[in-house]
Amino acid sequence: MITINVDMDKCQHYGQCVFEAPDVFKLNDDDKLEFVATADDSRRSDIESAVDVCPMQAISVVE
Ligand code: SF4
Repeated sequence: MITINVDMDKCQHYGQCVFEAPDVFKLNDDDKLEFVATADDSRRSDIESAVDVCPMQAISVVE
């Protein structure tokens, strides 16, 4: 299981992470980021892609 954290002080709600892993990250009706706190190991590749594309380096993954 992967634990996901987003530093909401850094996140600017650009949404790039949403394109990489839409089952984990989404923008709500107010265009604010929402995310699930844990994901299955099978989602690791897309979540790591989201970490890489985040322009604010706001996403971190805890093993
Ligand atoms: S890509 Fe980064 S800055 Fe953009 S919404 Fe996702 S976590 Fe926030």
